[in-house]
Amino acid sequence: MKQFVFATHNINKVNEIKHLAGNKFNILSLSDINYHDDIIENGATLRDNALIKARCIADKFGIACFADDSGLEVDALDGRPGVFSARYAGAECDSEKNNSKLLAELDGQTNRSARFVTVIAMVDAGQTHFFEGIVNGTISTVRRGNMGFGYDPIFLPNGCNNRTFAEMGMAEKNNISHRAIAFRKFVEYLKSNIK
Ligand code: IMP
Repeated sequence: MKQFVFATHNINKVNEIKHLAGNKFNILSLSDINYHDDIIENGATLRDNALIKARCIADKFGIACFADDSGLEVDALDGRPGVFSARYAGAECDSEKNNSKLLAELDGQTNRSARFVTVIAMVDAGQTHFFEGIVNGTISTVRRGNMGFGYDPIFLPNGCNNRTFAEMGMAEKNNISHRAIAFRKFVEYLKSNIK
């Protein structure tokens, strides 16, 4: 059975990809291979950071590896916070502060269009492949809902009756999210290209 490392410690992400991939592949997390060093994500783009993580493990362990990186891109802010989404309001920030900063920056702004993007990079036998998932939407003027995480309370995905991601149940969001779209593309690729 083909083995891959998913360069993450996030058990929810690992379970999501295992659920999609079925039992055709053996997918290991960083915890499974006992890798606990920091991987410095200093790339300029989501793509760079996903590749840095995948390549780091593929090179060290000589095993096929994939990694994901996600962010929120706001048009009126020239694509920010983007690759800096997790730490937008500074090194010690949390989601609350990130959301406050974004709402303040967009105060009075009429162009509120934005998108969530996930990029998956896979490194396998020296070859690199990328898979992308995008959800277009707008940034609300106030927070709404208490489910989800990160920017969910201020992101209104298009075509969802003016509800934020944080007003949706986990199952509904996980079905349409940028991550789900990228994960599904990746798994389709595996199923049709990896024996
Ligand atoms: P990661 O690459 O999955 O760790 O995502 C980086 C950052 O992007 C997170 O810390 C969040 O701030 C933001 N983000 C990514 N995906 C989502 C989402 O589905 N909802 C809300 N925020 C997200």
